[in-house]
Amino acid sequence: MGRKPEFLHPYLLAHFRRTAAAFQARYPGAPVPVLTETHRSSEEQTALYAQGRNTPEEVNRLRKIAGLGPIAPAQNKVVTHAPAGKSLHNFSPALAYDIGFRTTDAGLDWSEQLFRQFAALARQDPLIEWGGEWPGAKRDMPHFQFKGMTWAKALAGVDPLRL
Ligand SMILES: [Zn+2]
Repeated sequence: MGRKPEFLHPYLLAHFRRTAAAFQARYPGAPVPVLTETHRSSEEQTALYAQGRNTPEEVNRLRKIAGLGPIAPAQNKVVTHAPAGKSLHNFSPALAYDIGFRTTDAGLDWSEQLFRQFAALARQDPLIEWGGEWPGAKRDMPHFQFKGMTWAKALAGVDPLRL
């Protein structure tokens, strides 16, 4: 899946970098915020959407088409609520980004507390929405996007900076 910074909308990339710098200044020694996802192809979105909704065999068939490695049956759980084309990650440039926190042993930390600390800084920009505030099962802690942006608006060519 795409995590290349150049696939991300420049405003969001600047927002991530500014927030990550503020986070590191405020929490020295904490795991470091990194981009884990920017742009996602339709094939990748289809494979992820199938996860938890289809058999592991079908999920892995779709993952192969998308150029992704297989998952274990135990990992076959819902990871997204958006079918292909209906995620802000599917647009070019991507209108959303996901983060994780790099630990000193090069692993990734997904602690809720880290996301909350990052989000508190991220939301100082009124144009940014955090998936961690979405209700119930839609809650998506690693996800940040343009506030009020939808895939339908993106498809209609709405400028996320002029919502
Ligand atoms: Zn996301």
